[in-house]
Amino acid sequence: MSRVTDYIQSTFQDVRARNPHEAEYLQAVEELLATLEPVLEAHPEYLEENILARMLEPERVISFRVPWTDKDGKVQVNRGYRVQYNSAVGPYKGGLRFHPSVNQSILKFLGFEQIFKNVLTGLPIGGGKGGSDFDPKGKTDAEVMRFCQSFMSELQKHIGPSLDVPAGDIGVGAREIGYLYGQYKRLRQFDAGVLTGKPLAFGGSLIRPEATGYGLVYFTENMLQANGKSFKDQTVLISGSGNVAQYALQKATQLGATVIAVSDSNGYIIDENGIDFDLLVEIKEKRRARLTEYAAEKASARYYEGSVWDYQGPADIALPCATQNEINGTQAKALIQNGVYCLAEGANMPSDLDAIKIYKENDILYGPAKAANAGGVAVSALEMSQNSLRLSWTKEEVDQRLQDIMENIFTTAKTTAETYNLGKDYLAGANIAAFEEVANAMIAQGVV
Ligand code: NDP
Repeated sequence: MSRVTDYIQSTFQDVRARNPHEAEYLQAVEELLATLEPVLEAHPEYLEENILARMLEPERVISFRVPWTDKDGKVQVNRGYRVQYNSAVGPYKGGLRFHPSVNQSILKFLGFEQIFKNVLTGLPIGGGKGGSDFDPKGKTDAEVMRFCQSFMSELQKHIGPSLDVPAGDIGVGAREIGYLYGQYKRLRQFDAGVLTGKPLAFGGSLIRPEATGYGLVYFTENMLQANGKSFKDQTVLISGSGNVAQYALQKATQLGATVIAVSDSNGYIIDENGIDFDLLVEIKEKRRARLTEYAAEKASARYYEGSVWDYQGPADIALPCATQNEINGTQAKALIQNGVYCLAEGANMPSDLDAIKIYKENDILYGPAKAANAGGVAVSALEMSQNSLRLSWTKEEVDQRLQDIMENIFTTAKTTAETYNLGKDYLAGANIAAFEEVANAMIAQGVV
């Protein structure tokens, strides 16, 4: 066994022994480590500096009690977290997730991924993530407000515009960011740069709501064009129907594709005429209702219970935009058999390790989350810049910057893969490029 292989394996064994119950976190680590051998062979100093062990340990994990009163006057208690993973490149940056499944493992996997995603944007931001096992679904606005106020009463002790700047994620949209910001301001001061994803009226950026979905489609279009294809006339499957899915649907449609599927955690819609963006947004954002309502109102749509990745019809491109581990190996095989030749990830870690293996074995065009969904955090960093400058850039200006950033990310993944003789392995290309940047920044700052 080579020195590098031994180093990777022993580091992973150590991480597994110290975090035995953190399945999602260990999966994200394993996915990264599987691609790092060539760069560690080329840089013996990374072994001497024991950079892997340093990078895998979060700088700080904060966990706290979030008590709040529900609409019946009963006191409820949730658990809040902030994982401040790595600040080698800039202040911690990453979203807040409110979902009943949230635990330390999920937030560590998300925070870990965020370090590399953020550095790929080329903007000066470190990696973090946070959230709570609170479920906003079915709660009244007043309940969500009371929860957000309690959550921020504690979180505000640990964040700041040059320290840690949270944003949204699953279950945290403009409503939640508004309540969180209001409480921060009440306890501290008006400082727009402490949260991103804010409504426009108090420091938000144009194109931030669209950024992750649009960025995903821009990245994918670059990947398609580099391989002689494009979105035009392609049939697309999207999972999820939240923020990322909605704007991926809108941009892919604008580029000439037909998006025939979206989903939620209960089921999915198939509409061969193309999903109607306006109706979807009306149902999900204004009415906060389920996809069954879409099917009830649109004659051409059919609703099915279960996972959209079990749909057995022809398609060309798949854009998972819901949650982690939504695609397994069996589903990946079926997608490819049904014609899918390109898959790019809007969600974080939507493909399990078996699915990634299948993509590689079948040589499909695969855009990994770290690279493909970095548009959201990129525009969040542009929101921070605008807040510092006390300026607001136009829609066109932010959109152009987003397009440039996504093109650069694709080019970085592609040229790094080529440099290391890895063909079209954009996962390895993105991982290696990001890893080198973070490792070099850490080493330059000494053992801290
Ligand atoms: P939203 O809360 O707006 O939407 C989430 C969507 O995914 C909903 O349709 C939801 O369905 C579905 N979903 C959530 N959990 C599950 C599950 N366990 N099984 C099946 N479906 C599920 O979140 P976002 O659109 O913001 O986030 C989606 C993904 O994109 C996440 O992985 C997130 O980390 C990632 N991402 C988000 C960014 C952003 O800027 N918002 C940036 C980069 C990545 P239901 O309504 O039934 O729960």
